[in-house]
Amino acid sequence: MNIQQTEVVIIGAGFSGIAAAKKLHEAKIPFLILEARERIGGRVFTKHLSENLYVDLGGQWIGPTQDRMYALCQELNIPYFETYDEGKNILNLRGKIRTYQGIIPKMDPLSLINLDILMRRLERMAKQIDIHSPWTHPNAGKWDEMTLDDFLKKYSKTKYCYEVIKIGCETIFACELSEISLLHALFYIRSGTSLDCLINIKNGAQQHRIEGGMQRIIEEMAKPFYDKILFESPVERVIQGADSISVDFGDQSIEAQEAIIAIPPPLLNQIQFEPGLSKEKQELFQNYPMGRVGKCFMIYEKPFWRTLDYSGQVVSDDPLTHQTVFDCSPADGSFGILMGFVIGNRAEEYFSLSEEQRKNRMMRSLKQYFGEKAETAIQYLDFTMSDEAWSKGCYAGLMPVNSWSKFQDNYRKSEDRLHFAGTEAATRWHGYIEGAVLAGEAAASKIIKTQPN
Ligand SMILES: Cc1cc2nc3c(=O)[nH]c(=O)nc-3n(C[C@H](O)[C@H](O)[C@H](O)COP(=O)(O)OP(=O)(O)OC[C@H]3O[C@@H](n4cnc5c(N)ncnc54)[C@H](O)[C@@H]3O)c2cc1C
Repeated sequence: MNIQQTEVVIIGAGFSGIAAAKKLHEAKIPFLILEARERIGGRVFTKHLSENLYVDLGGQWIGPTQDRMYALCQELNIPYFETYDEGKNILNLRGKIRTYQGIIPKMDPLSLINLDILMRRLERMAKQIDIHSPWTHPNAGKWDEMTLDDFLKKYSKTKYCYEVIKIGCETIFACELSEISLLHALFYIRSGTSLDCLINIKNGAQQHRIEGGMQRIIEEMAKPFYDKILFESPVERVIQGADSISVDFGDQSIEAQEAIIAIPPPLLNQIQFEPGLSKEKQELFQNYPMGRVGKCFMIYEKPFWRTLDYSGQVVSDDPLTHQTVFDCSPADGSFGILMGFVIGNRAEEYFSLSEEQRKNRMMRSLKQYFGEKAETAIQYLDFTMSDEAWSKGCYAGLMPVNSWSKFQDNYRKSEDRLHFAGTEAATRWHGYIEGAVLAGEAAASKIIKTQPN
């Protein structure tokens, strides 16, 4: 066996692992990074189709209060631009297509009032959550026993209100709403500032995109230490000894003083830990599913819908098509790109079709929304991380009912020389790229603090 030695070994070269590495690099602490794939970025993956044409198959947006992301853009000199958000939005509800302005769709007055009250209620409840310990809220037990779907059904007095809030929440959480507890939803909302912030483009989590794609940031971050990344090196075994830790992959091993593990939760089950991790952690990893979402892109020579006064945004309850659609054209509008999210069970059904069928499905619905010109696409492509062996889904790991009450902060707790990062270890902007960066930096800080001056 080929054995290399270093001070810290980092498992996973997503934003979290690379943020940890950047901090260690700046503190002049030696490290090596093991990455299963042949690329960095993990759940962030920019695909370049031609010189000026790219799509972000994974994470793409940043928004206000994601302070580390804006600081990284500034430090690395990477420009970002406003997400296109002008003109009429489209609502496809119960077979009827209508247009609206702003974030609240046009509905009958009763549904509108109901939706407003329900969103305020969620906002009020989320504000009471301590993101560092959501399980300590006096109602935590009750809210953790209930799914988000149970809650929305209970307080939606009209079908329209339920359908609209359901689609909004599915787009935020990337799952069926029966898969997560109400407490997890409240924590997630609070962690990302507010429901308003998570939903909105302007002043919200979807406000900005990165020129050239999100992967550009991580590539720049990693530039000074690219030679420390070992690609196609999936970790199989982690052995903690009295004086060191060994991390094995293939016929190679790295011996270090400390390790940072920054991979999606379900993949922790695939690593053999010796001695085994705590009982609580093992149990948690076995019941930590990932979200399910696919991104589907229809590419045009120009964003033709803009000249028709459409924003490109769609919200739809039709189970055979995308929950939401956004304008994802490049900053200069040199191409027109509409991106649709298929989420949860809709994603399963959609990706069971052939690529030709998926393309036709999207084309048909875009024609319904934007007219004949929707048929003039030059390319279609789609992608789901659920099919990726080293992601198993996205956007993030999900806490099902009673999970927060039972496991509390177990996920992010260090065990001896092993420190847990990844967006799922974040308290702020949990599930987002900002959260991944914060969790990676926090893990690196723990190690830096233990170093002699
Ligand atoms: C479709 C989609 C849309 C999204 N949209 C947004 C958005 O707009 N804005 C936003 O902020 N967030 C978004 N997210 C979420 C965001 O991308 C993630 O929260 C973030 O990228 C997670 O980073 P991470 O470093 O924690 O994990 P990952 O990116 O998953 O990195 C983990 C790395 O570990 C590697 N790995 C796994 N197992 C092993 C092993 N055994 N050995 C070695 N390496 C291993 C993986 O290959 C991967 O590179 C989106 C995600 C997806 C997929």
